[in-house]
Amino acid sequence: MSSLTYYKIVRTKAKGRWFNKKLKEIAGEFNGKIELIGDLEREIERTDEIVYKIHVHEPPVSVITRDDILDDKDDFLVINKPSGIPIHPTVNYNKNTVTEQLKALGFPHLFPCYRLDRLTSGVLVLAKSSEYASQFNKQNQNEATKHHKEYIARVNSNTIPLMFNQLQCDQPIFTFNGKRGYENFLTDFNDQKPSRTDFFLLKKDIEYATIRCILHTGRTHQIRKHLSILGMPIHNDEVYNDGGLFANLCQTPSIENYAAIQNRAETQRQRKQVGAQCAECGVDLYLDTVSNLDLHCSMYKFDGFTYISEPDF
Ligand SMILES: [Zn+2]
Repeated sequence: MSSLTYYKIVRTKAKGRWFNKKLKEIAGEFNGKIELIGDLEREIERTDEIVYKIHVHEPPVSVITRDDILDDKDDFLVINKPSGIPIHPTVNYNKNTVTEQLKALGFPHLFPCYRLDRLTSGVLVLAKSSEYASQFNKQNQNEATKHHKEYIARVNSNTIPLMFNQLQCDQPIFTFNGKRGYENFLTDFNDQKPSRTDFFLLKKDIEYATIRCILHTGRTHQIRKHLSILGMPIHNDEVYNDGGLFANLCQTPSIENYAAIQNRAETQRQRKQVGAQCAECGVDLYLDTVSNLDLHCSMYKFDGFTYISEPDF
């Protein structure tokens, strides 16, 4: 599905600093890129609601079809999620999501039972009621009924250790958000959480090696981070296949190592831009392509059910 462009009406309560100012006087706060709706000469009152129109650009996503439905039970739906589509609405994706696309396929009320990153493909269970979703999660938190999850990742053959057959990674994981600044990064870095992934070599040819990954904990980007730290990042991972920058940062959380990641992210961002702005709102336009990541949830076992999906790589 290509990128979406549309207008959206947004409403916000009048802020204290706007009281007794004319609508046109606060227009600057809205960047001049959006249109305020109403009488621009009118003074803003405490009870006013400010209504404005914004131009929304949503990046392109993959499309889910009926062929991607693995099972349709009374309590839940299981799909084979394609890479390149987020599950939930986020800042950049509002209509271009798994739940929105499934509405169009006749499933109006779904509650995703766990997360798969936007770029990760594979087995995804979605509850048909919030009650079932919470029952599912309670089951997973109980050691006796904990679910079993497996992934398959593809890396460059020349990055894997010579004698690699199986490997356990126990490197603790911290939340990494490059937009939070160095001070906040240090706080996040010092809040490392125990993590474990087991890796098994499935097959290897001259170019690629396919690795089976078993999760014992479920931290954000756990497999991508562990493979990156081990020096065998997923080959098409735009974030963690970074020439060792993330591994360096884990070793030495210096401001230089942090800045190196920032610089790389900025270069990556520019590479995805068309080099032109939207005539309506002035934002930088991005290329109409969907990124892929060779990371696939290949098995999910819960409550007597086992769902398996082979990756297409
Ligand atoms: Zn625009």
